[in-house]
Amino acid sequence: MREIMVLAEHRMGEMRDITHEMLAKGRELAEAQGDILVAMLLGSGVEVLADALTPFADKVLVVESPELENFNSEAYQEVLKLVIRERKPRITLIGHTSYGIDLAPALAIDIGAPLASDCIDFMIEDGRVRVTRQIYGGKINVEAILKEAEHHIVTVRPATFEPGEPGPRGNIERLEPPATLGPGRKAFLEYVEPPPGEVDISEAEIIVSVGRGIKDEKNLPLITGLADALKGEVGCSRPIVDKYWLPKERQVGSSGKTVKPKLYLAAGISGSFQHVMGMKASGLIVAINKDPKAPIFRIADYGVVDDLFKVVPALTQKINELRQSGG
Ligand code: FAD
Repeated sequence: MREIMVLAEHRMGEMRDITHEMLAKGRELAEAQGDILVAMLLGSGVEVLADALTPFADKVLVVESPELENFNSEAYQEVLKLVIRERKPRITLIGHTSYGIDLAPALAIDIGAPLASDCIDFMIEDGRVRVTRQIYGGKINVEAILKEAEHHIVTVRPATFEPGEPGPRGNIERLEPPATLGPGRKAFLEYVEPPPGEVDISEAEIIVSVGRGIKDEKNLPLITGLADALKGEVGCSRPIVDKYWLPKERQVGSSGKTVKPKLYLAAGISGSFQHVMGMKASGLIVAINKDPKAPIFRIADYGVVDDLFKVVPALTQKINELRQSGG
């Protein structure tokens, strides 16, 4: 039986969402092919993470070494090329994240495998890997069939697939780190946290996002007030960042963050495809826009066609009243 391999991505002791998204898609592929789903975990002192992965994969392969304590694409490449050469998985899935972008191309060259990056869908048909990618900033979807090869690498766009439910526990298999693993040309120095006060909106459960409809920087407290009332974070469209009204970390979209909150409330945002690409996986989308033809309404679950300067304060007041009355 062949393997479908998913590279588990973790940071500072926490598994990243992309790992479970890839495992869910990997499970679909494995079932269709009659393959084994394998989670590949590299790190140091990662027993807890390995155990937590077992309900989501048939097998969790663990390689531990001090060199792997923090992500280092050079060290990861060294381990993965040996594991892939030996086990010959049909396909290896890697997150299209800052880690995966650093690792996957060099790994693919190293092992001579075809690589498709930033894929939003993929399947295996008659032994060939067929992928869907987006071009022209998301305007067009392209399907491509990868060259026939023993092994393929696909990097997967975050927030594209729903994480799966836990199933029967797989087993953990430990592999020895390669003897060649040692200090290389790249070294992990430190994690640089966002400046105090800034947050990672990609982790937020509630986002109130603001667009050009807000008209002036001095009106932003309307949006922060609503975000506070909802205990959420503030996001924005790109023009708001271009005007330096909010920092880049708050920008949602193809050149900003991809977010997946339970609630995404868009106020005065038209819904350009570049913006939508970054938030369409949100659980519930609510849009406030005075133009009934605004494209944001095509993906909104609830839409308010009205002036945000009327709706946002009324909404904030109502939520605050409900909170005070314990509602
Ligand atoms: P607009 O399109 O100007 O829309 C403002 C909306 O507010 C309108 O729909 C209007 O009806 C509504 N409005 C106005 N007044 C009110 C009111 N009083 N009450 C209610 N509604 C009102 N954009 C992103 O957001 N994220 C990205 O990552 C991103 N990346 C890009 C990458 C590239 C390469 C390019 C070329 C563009 C990118 N853009 C991105 C820009 C994108 O194309 C749009 O220009 C942008 O998303 C529009 O922002 P907006 O919706 O805030 O503004």
